[in-house]
Amino acid sequence: MSMRAEIVRPLDVALEQLKSTAERIDLDPGIYEMLKRPKRSLVVSIPVKLENGEVKVFMGCRVQHNDARGPFKGGLRYHPDVTLDEVTALAMWMTWKCAVVDIPYGGAKGGVCCNPKELSKGELERLTRRYVSSILDIIGPFRDVPAPDVYTDAQVMAWIMDTYSQLKGYSVPECVTGKPIVIGGSEGRIEATSRGVVLCVKETAKRLGVEMKGATVVVQGFGTVGWNAAKIAHDLGCSIVGVSDSQGGVYCKKGLNPYEVREHKAKTGSVVGYQECASVTNEELLELECDVLIPAALENQITATNAADIRAKIVAEAANGPTTAKADEILREKGVFVIPDILANAGGVIVSYLEWVQNLEREHWALEEVNRKLANKMLNAFNDVYERAKDEELDMRTIALGQGIGRVGEAIKTLGIWP
Ligand code: NAD
Repeated sequence: MSMRAEIVRPLDVALEQLKSTAERIDLDPGIYEMLKRPKRSLVVSIPVKLENGEVKVFMGCRVQHNDARGPFKGGLRYHPDVTLDEVTALAMWMTWKCAVVDIPYGGAKGGVCCNPKELSKGELERLTRRYVSSILDIIGPFRDVPAPDVYTDAQVMAWIMDTYSQLKGYSVPECVTGKPIVIGGSEGRIEATSRGVVLCVKETAKRLGVEMKGATVVVQGFGTVGWNAAKIAHDLGCSIVGVSDSQGGVYCKKGLNPYEVREHKAKTGSVVGYQECASVTNEELLELECDVLIPAALENQITATNAADIRAKIVAEAANGPTTAKADEILREKGVFVIPDILANAGGVIVSYLEWVQNLEREHWALEEVNRKLANKMLNAFNDVYERAKDEELDMRTIALGQGIGRVGEAIKTLGIWP
């Protein structure tokens, strides 16, 4: 990259998408005004007793964007760059996402500004429990159901369930999703987002005439979503040529084995240094020649600065908001096929929804059943967006946003504005 990277606030990206979609679908101006802001944002300060006896106070928030189509739903992020603005953008995207794949949820997101890599397990547990107790009044199985996101995992979800249940006085597994299976988590939840991403890639490849067997794939981010996407694509016969994490990336033209990379990361803490691979920076990784690029880390990765240098045929947005609006335009002009985040990564919230349904019904379904339901929902949404995009000669993001925002608008109109 020669120029300085373009810095864009995710919330500006989200608001710009809402604005252009509202104009295109002729959204009622009052409803547009409602959707520009979240219904409710709660900012809390979280004191945590550290192992050394000191007390450190962290900023946390929960943003509930819109619940016209059902209870709020959205992940919880622990990251040093978390801000209220970022979480608001992520909450808004959750609202559109649930509507695009037609599950009966609204959109929310939570965040705590912290560096979990510097916290002990005990500190993380105390932070999680105090955060949950601070937002207790606005969450719950029929209000707002949290789930994992960046640097939160099934263990964090277990602490959320336990804190909520202890404070209520009875066990409430349906208050959170992405839990370990032993306490009511769903089969297939950990892989769900990635399974949905790869399913979208497969459908796209079929239509573009790209052979999945031997297709070259680059994955940015090697966490829950990135690692599972690499694994599933590899198992389908794709060649994973590059992967990265927050420390940097590795590139191997003849393809690398994601299972071995995972072992290497488990031992060393990073994918960097994996055998016989060339080291690349995250910036270089995005510009590698490949059939499929899967950004699976953070927002703001493909920007006006590097979009022209992206050499992938297909970009499947596993991360939320990895592409800025300007970059999106550049990719479109270049003829790169972008599968937008609110469609591509919806597999996670679909299986979260299935987990919630199982919990409410006191059921536990087999993996095959969960995967079949996930594939049905993803395929329906993908086909719908793809066919409309073809008919209207527009890109997938424009159509998906129209679909999501349009459905939320219809729901608000039907409910009416109280009183
Ligand atoms: P995770 O914490 O499991 O993994 C994040 C990965 O990104 C890690 O490998 C980390 O090293 C890497 N990373 C962090 N900063 C980076 C940087 N600057 N450059 C490159 N890599 C970096 O998180 P996750 O759950 O896999 O989430 C990844 C993305 O997927 C996020 O955008 C999240 O919102 C989105 N997402 C997650 C889910 C889910 O079910 N977990 C669902 C939908 C969308």
